[in-house]
Amino acid sequence: IDAMAERAQRSAMVRVGKYDVGPALGEGTFGSVFEAYDPVSREAVAIKALDKRRVRQQAMDAQIMTEIAAMRQAKQALVVSLLEVLASPTHIYIVLELVPGGTLFRRVVESKDGRLDEATARRYFGQLVTGVAYCHECGVCHRDLKPENVLLDAQDRIKISDFGLAALCGADAALHTSGGTP
Ligand code: ATP
Ligand code: MG
Repeated sequence: IDAMAERAQRSAMVRVGKYDVGPALGEGTFGSVFEAYDPVSREAVAIKALDKRRVRQQAMDAQIMTEIAAMRQAKQALVVSLLEVLASPTHIYIVLELVPGGTLFRRVVESKDGRLDEATARRYFGQLVTGVAYCHECGVCHRDLKPENVLLDAQDRIKISDFGLAALCGADAALHTSGGTP
């Protein structure tokens, strides 16, 4: 945490709400995800910054509302938790629990022979289906599950991330549009 505070201090010292914003963690479709730090609670978070103009141009306003609602609805240890949502005249800031272990995609690529051993794959997969089953019980359909959207925490447990294409549905509703990545 001290190293993180130092890094936040060194980088431009941009503030969003009560957070000092640090380096970028990843690039998204409508903006970037940054590491940030609450100097009072000493809590590290991730902030997904969305450019309002780009969001509006691509008529994604409703989808972002759904992304936020889906994360609120599916609160669980295997799902990245939403801490708060902030806004400025130009941006929407989705404040998330920081998941420090990188993506499952990177974990696979960096493994020996470019694949996970069976015991590891089985463990991640068990967590993944448990998390997805919970989302479905909550009426949340993720629709973009892929290793790039699964993060790993400090205990090497998975966290389902990126509800940017999610849909909300009732117990027996069918969805009629497609999304995600071929
Ligand atoms: P889409 O896949 O719909 O384009 P996106 O790529 O814009 O969405 P995310 O997938 O949510 O947005 O985030 C982009 C990257 O930021 C991720 O691949 C990951 O590296 C990083 N990231 C996102 N959320 C977190 C988090 N809570 N903790 C740590 N890193 C994160
Ligand atoms: Mg993504």
